[in-house]
Amino acid sequence: RLYNEVLELKGNIRVYCRIRPFLPGQKGKSSSVEYVGENGEVLVINPSKQGKDGRRLFKFNKTFGPASTQEEVYLDIQPLVRSVLDGYNVCIFAYGQTGSGKTYTMSGPNSPTKEERGVNFRALNDLFDISHSRKNAFSYGIGVQMIEIYNEQVRDLLTSNDSQKKYPFTRNGLAVPDASMLPVKSTSDVLELMQFGFSNRAMSSTAMNERSSRSHSVVTIHVEGTDLKTGCSTRGSLHLVDLAGSERVDRSEVTGDRLKEAQHINRSLSALGDVIFALAQKSSHVPYRNSKLTQVLQSSLGGHAKTLMFVQVNPDVDSFSETMGTLKFAERVS
Ligand code: ADP
Ligand code: MG
Repeated sequence: RLYNEVLELKGNIRVYCRIRPFLPGQKGKSSSVEYVGENGEVLVINPSKQGKDGRRLFKFNKTFGPASTQEEVYLDIQPLVRSVLDGYNVCIFAYGQTGSGKTYTMSGPNSPTKEERGVNFRALNDLFDISHSRKNAFSYGIGVQMIEIYNEQVRDLLTSNDSQKKYPFTRNGLAVPDASMLPVKSTSDVLELMQFGFSNRAMSSTAMNERSSRSHSVVTIHVEGTDLKTGCSTRGSLHLVDLAGSERVDRSEVTGDRLKEAQHINRSLSALGDVIFALAQKSSHVPYRNSKLTQVLQSSLGGHAKTLMFVQVNPDVDSFSETMGTLKFAERVS
């Protein structure tokens, strides 16, 4: 139970900021991030204001600078992931404007090298490794669900899989009773499923990147462990959430479907912010009902659940106002 003790000390909600590096096509751009401190500080500068007025310091539980590696990031959240084996519910979110590195942090780039693999892969691999190492004392069952939320509609991404079997436990699950839950026995099983799920997501749209930046995707891993000596069992779950892009859409520039999408995204991201804020304040009323996303994750947010939000930043000065919006959102919930 060591993992839990470590976590109790840290509290149930954590916010980590991650600044992505400039990409090869952005050579010569100047950065709105002036400084990243060892204690979670990040100093941003407003390109159009001189002196002290143009500087703003934020502080989070941790800030990863542009040189941080996928491995460094994962090592920091490893105890949180492992606590799922002790029966905890854990949610890990990636928040930020489109292009800020949400998918990179969670999944890695397209066809990642070993070093580039993201949180999803590393977490799963870790869960399987530990469950194998404990196999003389515990028996673990692991199941996966994958959904997408687009315009407040939930879509099951694992539905048309031929070998579909219902997994025999649902507690701690998503509040989507009919979303398929598929049993998995190894990391490669999960990767195959994810591949399948993400391709399902892509097939529904002509421009995949467009669509994926405007929907939330949730991968849920359920773990049920039985103590072979006592017969007692624990259930935990890990939700890995790649959120829709948080960029503000200019109402005067979009109409119709695009405006509707933007409104749904705004509403659901602020509903998520309100829920996390209420939890952080230990408020007696937590407004879960205001969006599909928070409804679906209700049983995994609050109580003894652990929440981690990565707030992703694109350092380009051209993104300065989005960056401020992102950091202010994160500051409120941290
Ligand atoms: P988002 O999902 O927020 O829209 P992406 O994860 O797709 O953003 O990132 C945008 C681009 O930046 C991608 O080409 C991605 O590979 C790259 N990128 C993001 N974060 C990093 C990083 N930490 N190191 C290297 N490249 C990154
Ligand atoms: Mg993305």
